[in-house]
Amino acid sequence: MIYSIVVLPGDGIGPEITEQALRILTAFNDVSLDIKQELIGGSAFESVGDPLPPKTLNAVGNANAILFGAVGDSKYDYLPRNLRPEQAILGIRKKLRLFANFRPAILYPQLIKASTLKPRIISNLDILIIRELIGDIYFGEPRGFRTALVGDFKGEKEAYDTMQYSIPEVTRIAKIAFDTAKNRKKKLCSVDKANVLETSQLWRDTINVVGQDYPDIELSHMYIDNAAMQLIKNPLQFDVIVTGNLFGDILSDEASMLTGSIGMLPSASLNSKGQGLYEPIHGSAPDIAGQQIANPLAMILSVAMLFRFSLKMPRYANKIENAVFNVLDSGLRTPDIYEEGMTKVNTDEMGDAVLNELKNISR
Ligand code: NAD
Repeated sequence: MIYSIVVLPGDGIGPEITEQALRILTAFNDVSLDIKQELIGGSAFESVGDPLPPKTLNAVGNANAILFGAVGDSKYDYLPRNLRPEQAILGIRKKLRLFANFRPAILYPQLIKASTLKPRIISNLDILIIRELIGDIYFGEPRGFRTALVGDFKGEKEAYDTMQYSIPEVTRIAKIAFDTAKNRKKKLCSVDKANVLETSQLWRDTINVVGQDYPDIELSHMYIDNAAMQLIKNPLQFDVIVTGNLFGDILSDEASMLTGSIGMLPSASLNSKGQGLYEPIHGSAPDIAGQQIANPLAMILSVAMLFRFSLKMPRYANKIENAVFNVLDSGLRTPDIYEEGMTKVNTDEMGDAVLNELKNISR
């Protein structure tokens, strides 16, 4: 089988880290890939006047997987919202119905000092947050601005959004979360605000119904405010967390920061047809773009997720992850994760090291 992969380098450090990720993606001789590079984000706007050109949208629709760098730069802030680079990623999520977002927060033991938390709180941290990605208050209708018709501020301008989830929508993400928990520590924590929100009550009830089909999974529920606190206080209590779009947006950023290194964490966004978009959790980092100091490891680890989820080749995913682990063990560090006594390397050199290690492991 030949897998079709669309690569979208994007803006800022996107092209630099994508270059390294591509070397890893193409490292296995027995995997047949048809790789197409397309324009996206600010660079697409510069070239063709559209951050998500129809050619790109068409290509991602036909792909098995998409490898996405990053988009955005404050120099495009003057543009109307629909022409801003960040709209491109929302457009792809919507077009492909990428409803399940996987965000692992893993603390590499070699980088334990990079976290702001005490080692005893975070050592061996390995949490997976599964966030519903195309529903909730971000997409609910109606939304907009109006004049308040009731209340203390009647007659004043107000804004409103709609938080909504349907039972099938929650069921779909719940099944993914339970299935994932099955292959980990068999612990799932669902996060909501069921003490206040009807949407959350339906979320919780639905999770409980789906949970009846997974008697071997230890299911717990937590309110979002408590979850935000517990992630800092005692993160090791969590294994898999499942939550809605809004709460997941906030919690997944919080969890990633427990590891202290934004340049290390990958993500995957999947639809029900097995298509996936793989990207580092960080943005386009315009402040360091073009300087060869960006950490390419989050992007390389996104390639590992692509092998695991879209190509169903976990053996290669493990090899890439082991190669990264070994390179960190050997003391190589890009500036963002550098500490005294280690060897500072640039973006290309980090890519070289992972590729060499991958060859050693595969021998
Ligand atoms: P950012 O993640 O780009 O950068 C935050 C900080 O982390 C910066 O100091 C940056 O230098 C550093 N950093 C990020 N990735 C790094 C890496 N791989 N190696 C070393 N250091 C790294 O967030 P920001 O500065 O808030 O946003 C910059 C632009 O990226 C904005 O236009 C924003 O909208 C966009 N953005 C895009 C995505 C995406 O494409 N999915 C996600 C988040 C932000």
